[in-house]
Amino acid sequence: MNRGMSWLLGIFFVLTGTALAEGTFRVGTWAEDISPSKLPISLAGSMTDQRGMTIHDPLFARALVLDNGQTKLAFVLCDSCMIPRPLMDEAKKRIEESIGFPAANIIVSATHSHSCPTAGEAFQSSASPEYPEELITGIVRAVVKAASITAPAEIGFGSANCPGEVFNRRWRMKPGTIPADPFDNKNDQVQMNPPVGSANLIEPAGGTDPEVSVLVARSPEGAVRAVLANYSLHYVGGIPANAISADYFGEYARIMTSRLGAGKKSNAFLAMLTNGTSGDINKINFRQARPPMEPFAQVKHVANEVANVSEMALKSVSFQKDAMLKSARKEIELGVRKPSSEDLARAKKILSESEGKPLTTLAQIYARETVLLADYPDTVKLWIQAVRVGSAGIVAIPCEVFTEIGLEIKAKSPLQPTFTIELANGYNGYLPTPRQHEWGGYETWRARSSYLEKDASAKIVDAALELLKEVARD
Ligand SMILES: [Zn+2]
Repeated sequence: MNRGMSWLLGIFFVLTGTALAEGTFRVGTWAEDISPSKLPISLAGSMTDQRGMTIHDPLFARALVLDNGQTKLAFVLCDSCMIPRPLMDEAKKRIEESIGFPAANIIVSATHSHSCPTAGEAFQSSASPEYPEELITGIVRAVVKAASITAPAEIGFGSANCPGEVFNRRWRMKPGTIPADPFDNKNDQVQMNPPVGSANLIEPAGGTDPEVSVLVARSPEGAVRAVLANYSLHYVGGIPANAISADYFGEYARIMTSRLGAGKKSNAFLAMLTNGTSGDINKINFRQARPPMEPFAQVKHVANEVANVSEMALKSVSFQKDAMLKSARKEIELGVRKPSSEDLARAKKILSESEGKPLTTLAQIYARETVLLADYPDTVKLWIQAVRVGSAGIVAIPCEVFTEIGLEIKAKSPLQPTFTIELANGYNGYLPTPRQHEWGGYETWRARSSYLEKDASAKIVDAALELLKEVARD
């Protein structure tokens, strides 16, 4: 399907309305198609490169702009696995240059679909020459357009629980049953994605966050116009390896649009499902095997459940005609877990023995990661951001954040409700807690997908809470 066709298919939402007096709360939305122009294309989300051959469903950069007459905020959610910071910074810079919208008030994030074009580098996948620019252009267009067509709106928050679709994927196993890690150590006390129904399962190494949070905008007449939802589930999958898809995030937007946006011509509608803190969460019930499902069946099932719960949450929303908007962000510097000279020598030996053939074993794949990480700087800088919408707080973190970290931020935030959008404003790999680092497992294995210092989560939570306090001040 080409861009023009998907445009015509109408997943393209505009808020229109009549102008009101200055100072009135206004909302604008736009969904810009970011499906790749050239196929085949490298897809991110596997340790070996996958080639996207067909576009199963179109990809979008979905933008929601809030404007209370004094301050503007923008949320942009891209159907992408992860997006490196320089690309997001460039998009924000161009938005600020073209319409004066402050870059510091924009949160750009990726959904984490594993069936989308590579935007940077991920294991053995690299971005095509064209795609990063297509993505930047899409993000810029989405915000510029949304900001140009704002209409009067009321705003509110709600939430409800959807516990059946989230499972912690890290498990304690019977002693001696966890395989060696890619560096040939047998220290892991936790296994990611253990065999379903295994007799060796003891218990999950962490909990889940079942909450579906919704930020909702409606017209003064009461028609829902935008839903920004947040749920802590990594992605769903069950998608053919060569298909490009927005996973359940895209299906959620389609279902919500058919339920709440159907028949609205002048009152168009946008739904976007941001990823919460889901670094250790997936949709697999490890205690109980289930029969195999058709491709996309699981995507549809989960999207439908989250949409049902979102509609329940909508009922709890009390709308305000105006809301304080604030944004604060801070650049923090964190250490990189770089390989030692022994690690590097071992990795180079493994790679030389693979004689230039495709890397397929964990030992080979992580040997390549070790060599690449040796060239990383000793520290990296990350944006941590908090915004306030009325009495609610939203945190943005550029990592795949473990769910317990999101729960801690929710519990300690001075603003209620609060939720976190992950993979936002950059990409710095997994964010386990120091304790989870001790337990080991896939998410802690040193690679470009997990390289921040072991104390990173404590420093990021401190920064997030400090920023929340700052925006909470009247
Ligand atoms: Zn992932």
